[in-house]
Amino acid sequence: MTDCIFCKIVRGEIPAKKIYEDEDVLAFHDIRPIAPVHFLVIPKTHIPSMAELQPEHEATMGKVMLAASKLAREQGSTDGYRTIINTGRVGLQEVYHLHVHVVGGPDVLPAMLKR
Ligand code: 5GP
Ligand code: ZN
Repeated sequence: MTDCIFCKIVRGEIPAKKIYEDEDVLAFHDIRPIAPVHFLVIPKTHIPSMAELQPEHEATMGKVMLAASKLAREQGSTDGYRTIINTGRVGLQEVYHLHVHVVGGPDVLPAMLKR
């Protein structure tokens, strides 16, 4: 995808504060952090959202989740954090390249959704 912002980060065409990279996975700090720890973990391949996941993505998404767990620990979130995947219109997804938010810090986060 030529004009996808996260694909541009993968290709090095837009700068990002990278945390981790391997052949399948990239992690970088969110440009507008909502907590002291807030980074994104993405598959390097362009998958628009959770809604488009296919069986062929199984191994890559496994790597994305394992990277999120390891990096959360390394970033200091040893007492918990929140992982968020926003999907589509209802999920208020902003960037249509599948990404896992890892959000945390020293303090307990607000309740996820209010009744
Ligand atoms: P979404 O609502 O799609 O789950 O979240 C997209 C996230 O990507 C937002 O938290 C936003 O701050 C972040 N973001 C958007 N553009 C950029 C960018 O160019 N660089 C980085 N590092 N993060 C971005
Ligand atoms: Zn993309």
